[in-house]
Amino acid sequence: MILMQCHYCDSNADVSIEKNRIRVGLCEEHLQEQLEGFEEADSLSELQQYVDAYETKT
Ligand SMILES: [Zn+2]
Repeated sequence: MILMQCHYCDSNADVSIEKNRIRVGLCEEHLQEQLEGFEEADSLSELQQYVDAYETKT
């Protein structure tokens, strides 16, 4: 597994997600922010990918 850096800060990424075929890392803090921002998202499957990755890690 490749260690990634968070897309939004300098922390090591806890999860990596693929968005528009670009893989980005997210630390736990920014993952939570992304999840909160998904309330109006029409891409529920994408949200599920976040959650799956998150639960796998923890
Ligand atoms: Zn971060």
